[in-house]
Formats: sequence, structure tokens, C-alpha cells
Amino acid sequence: MKIGILGGGQLGRMLLQAGINYVVETYILENDEHCPSAHLCHHFTKGDIRDYDTVYNFGKQLDAITIEIESVNVDALEQLQREGVRVYPNPAALRIIKNKINQKQFYKHHDIPTSEFKITYQLSDLLSHENFLPAVHKLGEGGYDGKGVQLLREGADLEKGFDQPSVLEKMVQIQKEIAVIVAVNDNRETTIYPPAEMVFDTRYNLLDYQLSPARLEKEVFWKVEAIALKVVRELKSPGIFAVELFVDIKNDVLVNEIAPRVHNSGHHTIEGNYCSQYDMLWRILLQLPLGNTVAIQPSALVNIVGEEGYTGKAIYSGLNKVLALNNVFVHLYGKTQTKPGRKMGHVTVLGNDYTELTHTAHKVKNILQVVSESF
Ligand code: ADP
Repeated sequence: MKIGILGGGQLGRMLLQAGINYVVETYILENDEHCPSAHLCHHFTKGDIRDYDTVYNFGKQLDAITIEIESVNVDALEQLQREGVRVYPNPAALRIIKNKINQKQFYKHHDIPTSEFKITYQLSDLLSHENFLPAVHKLGEGGYDGKGVQLLREGADLEKGFDQPSVLEKMVQIQKEIAVIVAVNDNRETTIYPPAEMVFDTRYNLLDYQLSPARLEKEVFWKVEAIALKVVRELKSPGIFAVELFVDIKNDVLVNEIAPRVHNSGHHTIEGNYCSQYDMLWRILLQLPLGNTVAIQPSALVNIVGEEGYTGKAIYSGLNKVLALNNVFVHLYGKTQTKPGRKMGHVTVLGNDYTELTHTAHKVKNILQVVSESF
């Protein structure tokens, strides 16, 4: 089978790594020929994943096509689907997810618990919502990794909002942030991974480390699973979905957002679960049986990001020390250039004791640093 991936970053790279176990011819479309996936696929096409003709011409030779990033040309995917190419996720689901305004309206329409919201089209709309604060203003399209998200605590903050179509969400009093990966095949069979709990680095609003399975009271766990499954089923699309949820201080569970693709919050499944999210997506793409999502052992996941103050050719300081630790798995994404906050790799730690996992996660973060020769 000929399978294409739109985007050639680290998610595409890890997907290709898992694909090696199957009989499949792989195609990548990406603008940067030095991207992390370029040398791991059978066929690399340099091109813009947002351009209709480029995506259409890339896709028409394929049996199936998937994405590793949402900012792709959905019109081209719709046309490919009409012509018989299998598209994961369904372009209609991608259209809902791609835009945070559509996402929120979708949750509301399907009675999926999510924080209250208002839609603003320009900055002047925001000014009428002072009594809705504290709230979080989110760009409808184009935001990622916390960029395009602005916390608005009081009236004076309103001018920090976006002057483009956006969503204003009531600020949730978050107890825990959770991510759940759900897999759906062509027959609409589903399987769900154990939830992960996340801790954020406040400097970049990037994930600091993550623990999986999340430590949740039984009732909260049930709510998380039920809501994650419901929201994915309502999307009526095969594929892999990462559902991000908030558990608030009253133990209510709210959907934050969905990604219709393999996701950062599922990296630990490579070593931590019997079937990784990447292996699972191949099973879906190749129309094979779904895999086993059960955790082999609890895990901590640390994102390795470029250190503040260093831009240039990447140097992995402390790598030998981290590799000498037991049950620690290092993944470097092959990006030659580092810059502050850039995702350069991740480390998964396995172990049964959560205190020890947290301790080792901190140790890894302190030891392994991505710096450069020039500053
Ligand atoms: P992105 O898609 O850029 O990651 P998110 O919508 O996930 O943006 O928001 C980034 C972070 O901002 C979340 O992980 C959470 O910590 C915080 N956040 C987002 N929405 C809310 C909300 N309604 N209330 C409180 N905090 C929020």
C-alpha cells in the first residue's frame, strides 16, 4: 500500500519508524527537505501542505493519506476522498477541529462538557465581555503550543486579546490537565489508551513532563474515558485522536481541545504501552486489527526543548549521563538547529513508583540540555 503523510516533523518521523514493521510504501509532503522525516520515507516531496494543487497532486497517487499537523489544505483532502483515497482523519472532522470556534460550537451542539465561551471576530467585540472575565482568549486558527492563547484576568488585559476570529473561554480552575488518545478504525471500532496527566512549564506553556496512567479517582477516570470516547465518536471519523481535558477543582471534567492525529501526549506509548499510538495508526491506515492499549508499566515523559539563550547548531549536553540511567529511553528528533523552546526530542522513563518516576523526570530535565556553540 502507498501511504502519504502531510508534514515531516517529529510526529511523522516516529510514525515512519513504526511503519518499518509493515509492508508499506511511505510518502512525505513537507516544505523543508531537511525535516526530521525526510530521510526515513521512501518518497519525499518538497511542497506546501497548505496548497490545494500540491496536496491534491501528492495525494492522488496514494491509497491512503494522513496528517501530522492540522494546518493542511482540507479542500484538497475532500477532493481526494471523493476520488477514493482514504483520508485519516475524515476532512469533515478536520474542518471542525482546525478552527477553535468550530470546535467549541461542535462540543456545545453535542452536549459535550466544555468551558463556557463567547465568539469574538475582532478586538472591539472583546470589550463588551469584561463581565465574562477571568477568561482565556484563543485564536480560531493558527495557534499552537500556547501561542495564540492569551489569559485575560481583568478589564485592563482586554487589549492583549486577538483582533481576529477567536474564542473567549471562561477560565477553568484547573486541578489537572489530562490527555487521552483514542483510536478509531474504518469499521468505527474504538480503543482508548490510559489517560496521561500533564505538568506545564510556565515559561513557554510547553509540557514540562507527563505521567501515565494519570492518577485519578475512579469516578473522575470514568468521566474522562466516557467523555473522550463520546467526543471522538461524534466526530464520525477513523484515525487517532488526542483529547485534552481539564479536571476542575470540583472534579468536573471538561474538554479543552482535540487533535486528530498522533500527538505529543502519546510519545510514551512507544515504550510504555503494548501498541504505541504510531503502531496503532498504521493498523488503522492499513486496515489491520486494532492493537492493545494497555500500559506495560507507568511512565514519565519529558520533552527536551532548546535551552533559553541558545540558537544555532544543536549540542546535546548531558546525553551520556542520561543514557546511563536505567529504564530511560531517549528520542532525538534529528533537528540540527536549536532555538529557545523548540521541541528537539523527548525522554520516556518507565517504572512502577510515581515518586521515583517524577524524580527521574526532573533529573533528566536538569541533566539533558540542548545548547549550541554560538549564543
Ligand atoms: P494550544 O492548542 O496552543 O496548546 P490550549 O487550548 O491547549 O492551546 O491552551 C494552552 C494552555 O492554556 C492549556 O494547556 C491550559 O493550561 C491553558 N488553558 C487553555 N484554556 C483554558 C481555560 N479555559 N481555562 C484555564 N486555562 C486554560
